[in-house]
Amino acid sequence: MQKVGVLALQGDVREHLAALTALGVSPMRVRRPEELDDLDGLVLPGGESTTMIKLARAFDLLDPLRERLAGGMPAFGTCAGMILLADRIRDGAPGQETLGGLDVTVRRNAFGRQVDSFETDLDVSGVEGPVHAVFIRAPWVEEVGDRVEVLAEAADHPVAVRQGPLLATSFHPEVGHDLRLHRLFLDLLG
Ligand code: GLN
Repeated sequence: MQKVGVLALQGDVREHLAALTALGVSPMRVRRPEELDDLDGLVLPGGESTTMIKLARAFDLLDPLRERLAGGMPAFGTCAGMILLADRIRDGAPGQETLGGLDVTVRRNAFGRQVDSFETDLDVSGVEGPVHAVFIRAPWVEEVGDRVEVLAEAADHPVAVRQGPLLATSFHPEVGHDLRLHRLFLDLLG
């Protein structure tokens, strides 16, 4: 059985645990460095990226997370989780760090004040039929490196990307009952 974790510092941890459980894996909450050992994959939830980074530092998780990601651990970041995975960030809080691994530049809170939360149907490469996507003060992707595949766009910007075993969405597949993005991630675990 695949050993899949959800970074459980802040954000919609419960929703991701429920989605993974519905797909038949027994996910674990990850809060301590040793819980990263022999993990086959990690979900980085939506929430607040600045808070998650602060808590990751407080829990001595920052370097272990960076090392595992640099070492090729599969990861799935949604919204704030996408920001955590990004190598570069625009409009971050002053000095805001990320974990990195994904060769993209994200713009935080990119969709602006008027439409900072909205829902839309998206075509996502690798998923059959439209995906109902919920965006909540979401980032978008502004630059992608050569190894990054764009899976979906909204407002002319990538909002779902994949680089090898790293998957990231600006929106929240953990909200609602559509498990197809989580399935796509589990398929990356091999
Ligand atoms: N705006 C949040 C951030 O910067 C992300 C929002 C979300 O995850 N829904 O972390």
